[in-house]
Amino acid sequence: MSTVYRALSALAEAGLLHAFIGDGEARYRLCTTGRHYHLMCRRCGTVREYPAEDDGAWLDRIAAEADFEADLRKAEVHGVCGSCLRAGREEAAD
Ligand SMILES: [Zn+2]
Ligand SMILES: [Zn+2]
Repeated sequence: MSTVYRALSALAEAGLLHAFIGDGEARYRLCTTGRHYHLMCRRCGTVREYPAEDDGAWLDRIAAEADFEADLRKAEVHGVCGSCLRAGREEAAD
């Protein structure tokens, strides 16, 4: 088990896998190599990729101004996905 974990960690370090903490445990996802955001649903745990506009240039600018190195490979946007939203709306309508 720990060997598998180390292998996953090494792939994550290399940027080939992106690691997330969901429900208190580490989850891994095989991502595209380009800069992207992770749209994470807090209800169903789905993670979707969304390509970063301008290759994340806006974040580089903020990082330069704020003297902060941002790791956009790990950019996470938390919220609720469309299907959960629609499911919630149906529940609310009952
Ligand atoms: Zn990713
Ligand atoms: Zn969802």
